[in-house]
Amino acid sequence: MEFVARCFLPVRQNSLTLHVIMAEKDCSENNTNHCAGRKQPPCSVFAGMRPAVVAGRPDGRVIIAGPCSAESRDQVLETAKGLKDVGIDIFRAGIWKPRTRPGGFEGCGERGLQWLREVKNITGLPVATEVATAAHVEAALDAGVDLLWIGARTTVNPFAVQEIADCIKEKGGDVAILVKNPANPDVDLWIGAMQRLYNAGGRRIGAVHRGFCVYGNNSFRNPPQWHVPIELRRRMPDLQILCDPSHIGGDVALVAPLAQQACDLGFDGLMIESHCSPQAALSDAAQQLTPVQLAGLIASLPVKNVGGVSADLMVLRAEIDRLDEELLAVLEKRMSLADEIGRRKQAFNMPVLQPERYGKMMDSRVQKAMELGLNRDFVASLFSAIHAESVSRQLKLK
Ligand code: PEP
Ligand code: MN
Repeated sequence: MEFVARCFLPVRQNSLTLHVIMAEKDCSENNTNHCAGRKQPPCSVFAGMRPAVVAGRPDGRVIIAGPCSAESRDQVLETAKGLKDVGIDIFRAGIWKPRTRPGGFEGCGERGLQWLREVKNITGLPVATEVATAAHVEAALDAGVDLLWIGARTTVNPFAVQEIADCIKEKGGDVAILVKNPANPDVDLWIGAMQRLYNAGGRRIGAVHRGFCVYGNNSFRNPPQWHVPIELRRRMPDLQILCDPSHIGGDVALVAPLAQQACDLGFDGLMIESHCSPQAALSDAAQQLTPVQLAGLIASLPVKNVGGVSADLMVLRAEIDRLDEELLAVLEKRMSLADEIGRRKQAFNMPVLQPERYGKMMDSRVQKAMELGLNRDFVASLFSAIHAESVSRQLKLK
């Protein structure tokens, strides 16, 4: 199936649930890696985990925002001051940038840590940066960085994650850390990375869904394949899971609708790239919002349902939608058949209504319904309506 690469815009709940269903169906057919995981029970090896980030916002959603990269002291401070006014929880900025090809802007390096320290002092916001090696962890923690994240290109590599975990253990283990999904849709690899951190003493661990790399053209930079984080939620129900719509969409126009979908699916918060002058950004210029645009996005998010519409519920509703579609398709077939029968009746000059046949049909349907544990009156009225519609169509045949 080609659903993985298919986009669904404009973004609406229906198309999302359809996407989820198709994805699930694909799983059973191909038994791909993440799908094999579906048969696994919820993880029991993560006792005592706490959220990596505590939300200070009234809606309980965590909002992490900041530029893709720290580029200069002025850019970092101006962006942070704008975001402070927006009411975010944590300021993010990449210091070491994993770039696909050499020659691009590979980050400002350690001097950016000093700018993050200034952000903390001036705005009071906690700060976060990406780490990919033990040296990054060491430098970031020594500079007072509050939250680390492991990027998609690092999560794929167990050696790199283990190196980070070992360093965190040396530092005492109690480090807040987010793990972005691996670039390929592999739930076990994602969980395995978190397990390495947990085994090293980490307890404040969260996940970030940032979409998955696919070959070829796609409307998304990294298609979301929502069923993968939904499976992670099933396997780790208490894990804090954020969504990064910036790297999924890769385009300013897609960030808000994706953020909205993430909220509808019950994600615990968002990591969004924001820059004081996006058009001048040295990396990921097309996907960064200004702080003012981010304020608009946050204001437009659906009100959080405190009753907690879980991702599980979304999946069950998607299944109901699929069954209803099947019911409608069956009804359409049944009516076509009734038309065909009507034409035969005409050919043989038979009356449309055949009371004996109608009585037998109703008796057998009600009998079958009761065997299935369905309500007798409900099924009787349903089939009486179906039969009435068939009769009416046959009367209209010319
Ligand atoms: C980032 O957050 O800037 C980043 C590089 O993310 P990812 O690992 O998701 O590509
Ligand atoms: Mn980026």
